[in-house]
Amino acid sequence: MLHEQYPMNIAGGTVATEDMLLTKIESGIYMSAESVRFLVIHCTATREDQDYTPEQLRRDHLRRGFIDVGYHFYIRRDGTVTQHRRLNEVGAHCRPFNRCSIGICYEGGLDAKGKPKDTRTLKQRASLIGLLRDLHRQFPKALICGHCEMPGATPKACPCFKPSKEFAYLMKG
Ligand SMILES: [Zn+2]
Repeated sequence: MLHEQYPMNIAGGTVATEDMLLTKIESGIYMSAESVRFLVIHCTATREDQDYTPEQLRRDHLRRGFIDVGYHFYIRRDGTVTQHRRLNEVGAHCRPFNRCSIGICYEGGLDAKGKPKDTRTLKQRASLIGLLRDLHRQFPKALICGHCEMPGATPKACPCFKPSKEFAYLMKG
């Protein structure tokens, strides 16, 4: 199970106890810590000069029939990180891997003309690295990868860079 000390910091938030991490909510579906095999990175596919708030994200995901935002974490252009699902809650972001992955999404992914582009700001990059470090400590066996790198996933540009390469050093450490 988890070999970490509590309280634990995840993306600037504090998880006081393991119980808190594993608490069940009635409507959700849960996975065990051992079942987390991938930390999957996404982009919103919104333009780099456009705001896409967590509220807009939530509204759009509810419209798609999700119970909430499908990602576990969302990173704004200003580096703000919000958490939308508990770590052990199954997300809705990368079929058929939702039961063994955590979804992280950054705001952006398109240039001003709507073409796929790695639009991450310096603050987004810093927040993403911090979040991945925290998650990797928690799930040391999980591979860090991009949506488009997932086997069998529909070919897409998402997230417009290659996380398995960029973060290979984190997976070794
Ligand atoms: Zn994606």
